[in-house]
Amino acid sequence: MASRTLRIGLIPGDGIGKEVIPAGRRILEALPASLGLKFEFVNLQAGFETFEKTGAALPDETVQILKSDCDGALFGAVSSPTTPVKGYSSPIVALRKKLDLYANVRPVKTVFNAPKPIDMVIVRENTEDLYVKEEKTYDTPEGKVAEAIKRISQRASSRIATMAGEIALRRQKIRAAGSPSIHKGPLVTITHKSNVLSQTDGLFRATSKEALANPRFLSVAVEEQIVDSMVYKLFRQPEAYDVIVAPNLYGDILSDGAAALVGSLGLVPSANVGEGFAIGEPCHGSAPDIMGQGIANPIATLRSAALMLEFLNEEEAAAKIYAAVDANLSEGKLLSPDLGGKAKTEEVVQDILRRL
Ligand code: ATP
Ligand code: MG
Repeated sequence: MASRTLRIGLIPGDGIGKEVIPAGRRILEALPASLGLKFEFVNLQAGFETFEKTGAALPDETVQILKSDCDGALFGAVSSPTTPVKGYSSPIVALRKKLDLYANVRPVKTVFNAPKPIDMVIVRENTEDLYVKEEKTYDTPEGKVAEAIKRISQRASSRIATMAGEIALRRQKIRAAGSPSIHKGPLVTITHKSNVLSQTDGLFRATSKEALANPRFLSVAVEEQIVDSMVYKLFRQPEAYDVIVAPNLYGDILSDGAAALVGSLGLVPSANVGEGFAIGEPCHGSAPDIMGQGIANPIATLRSAALMLEFLNEEEAAAKIYAAVDANLSEGKLLSPDLGGKAKTEEVVQDILRRL
């Protein structure tokens, strides 16, 4: 059997990042040999501690090695000081820019037999919108005024909508292969506020619709929804959503809101995706309140490792990780405290590795 070696950068970062990233490495190493998949790992630095040690939150070396020498990466979490520290800015935001990781993909899913099953993916544009961070403040006779630029481009809107379409097709393929699902057919929901922002969100809407009208997506149903009514429906009827595509800011807000639907941040994975490169990243932060206690839920990271594999075209390996995690959750005997259990990180990891 052909074997493939993937080189994966490991960036634990701060806080519980250091406790969960090693679990991500172990699950990749534990994948069955029959998949023909081998891994090499490279330990890399980034985060607030790195900043305090070296003066750089994202050392050049980390970026260079990821660019020239890795197929993908796992990123833990970084502390973000609540009051800005001079010279410090989020390394993951910088990394997304430097590697052109233009999509942030966040699956939100309960186990299939949950009382209220949810199975959706939020696909958030990651390079523009209000996050271009072009702000200014000026004085007027009535006091200060601050402004920010919201930039939406045809190119970025088109590629994010196309990615949403591809993800919808891939999910349909996985369902057709026998994975139980609450969805019958693939659906992409385009989110915007073009009734107010007719030019910026108007462009996002029109471009997304056009991209999804490509004959490749003939089997994908496409609908659109204004973001505020979307939030309402997301909470009332989350089972209605399959793939959601949104500009940067709405995507950010919807992602965190959707994460709340499944109980714990400790369960929700994400991936930062570009052309042929993906970084898996749990959605939670560095969780300073529980760090060092060995009780962080590793599942968000394990699912992030699987999600990274999906984007590196290793769907079968990814499916094995998802299944092992789901089995642990469905049985519900070894759960971490955020899920109401008593298990330590290590016990959860061992239970899932055993199922793999
Ligand atoms: P940061 O500034 O790094 O984002 P934070 O204080 O916002 O830190 P988060 O990591 O975002 O903390 O977590 C929010 C809450 O969810 C915290 O109470 C944290 O303990 C809990 N939490 C987050 N991740 C996990 C996890 N993997 N396992 C258990 N609890 C978690
Ligand atoms: Mg946080």
